[in-house]
Amino acid sequence: RARRARASMNQTAYTNLNVELGERSYPIAIGPGVIKDASLLARHVGGNKVAIVSNTTVAPLYLDKVAAPLRAAGREVVEIVLPDGEEHKHWGSLMAVFDALLANKCDRKTTLVALGGGVIGDLTGYAAASYMRGVPFVQIPTTLLAQVDSSVGGKTGINHPLGKNMIGAFYQPRAVLADTSTLSTLPDRELSAGLAEVIKHGAILDAAFFDWIEANIGKLMARDPQALSHAIARSCEIKADVVRKDEREGGLRAVLNFGHTFGHAIEAGLGYGAWLHGEAVGCGMVMAADLSRRLGHIDAAAVERVRALVNAAGLPTVAPDLGFARWIELMEVDKKNEGGAIKFILLKPLGSPSISSVPQDLLKATLEACTQ
Ligand code: NAD
Ligand code: MG
Repeated sequence: RARRARASMNQTAYTNLNVELGERSYPIAIGPGVIKDASLLARHVGGNKVAIVSNTTVAPLYLDKVAAPLRAAGREVVEIVLPDGEEHKHWGSLMAVFDALLANKCDRKTTLVALGGGVIGDLTGYAAASYMRGVPFVQIPTTLLAQVDSSVGGKTGINHPLGKNMIGAFYQPRAVLADTSTLSTLPDRELSAGLAEVIKHGAILDAAFFDWIEANIGKLMARDPQALSHAIARSCEIKADVVRKDEREGGLRAVLNFGHTFGHAIEAGLGYGAWLHGEAVGCGMVMAADLSRRLGHIDAAAVERVRALVNAAGLPTVAPDLGFARWIELMEVDKKNEGGAIKFILLKPLGSPSISSVPQDLLKATLEACTQ
């Protein structure tokens, strides 16, 4: 189980989780100021050298805060600052990381630290998995999406011109340090995008957590530190639990794609970047809830709860009209649908997942009802 404990050694109220994966188990520390806790980072950074990978947006805000205590503790810190953006999550950036590591004589004991959102986390994790056949890796996620989703689960990688996340590896970090105070500088749209994945975790696996998000959505939108810490901790627990049962996506892990079949179609249909991933997933969850109702799995009130919560999180609830044939085409190419009919992650009831294909007339009705 993902275990949770309040740190009681000092006054800082971190939440500590442990992701139980046998010898690959690792801790997640969540709370305001965790990156400034020199002892916490130092504990997970062995060797004399540390390479911090960040980007041009995050580095000016937080790189010194992470690097200074490490330097004070006698560590040599190599700073690698990449350009910002999903379009830079590619081979060229990976090579730039390797170039810097080799030029600075980083060895197998060098720890790679990812300081940034999911783009930096995925790319740095993959660099750590492959540099000298694997070096230690610590995640310092600075977006809500990275804190609740991408930093947990060990998927790392980069994009290929022919497909997103097509090149990668499963590689677990030594630790994840999620500093909630870094979220104060996050753009509103990015905060909402992260909330989509938080809502997802409640909707598919924890009805009580869904209730809690409903009751606290105002605080979350206002970036209340305690509410954010709880949302992050519970999300990490839920995702870590799924990952523990299915580390390499054999089956159960697919439930984490709730809202993503419709969402990926929206992202691809509009062209990547038009909607943020979390925006597309928010709308996709409303659509998957609507489809669940048409199958008789949930009632109209439950669909309305999902729609209202997605809306309150600042996310779109009405999809663009791509046309039925194009919707089907886009959902069929979704890499999670291997062969056969399109599989949907549905609610049965709210708080529990059910995976199945659906009759085409019901799918058509959902697409008509949820688009404009
Ligand atoms: P991102 O990394 O692009 O970050 C979003 C934006 O916020 C960027 O411009 C970034 O520079 C900026 N930013 C980051 N932290 C900030 C801060 N504290 N203050 C101000 N600005 C800040 O996007 P993301 O949503 O974090 O991650 C998306 C990526 O994660 C995608 O590449 C996706 O494939 C990947 N992902 C991976 C997994 C996984 O399991 N490995 C899961 C979900 C998503
Ligand atoms: Mg997602």
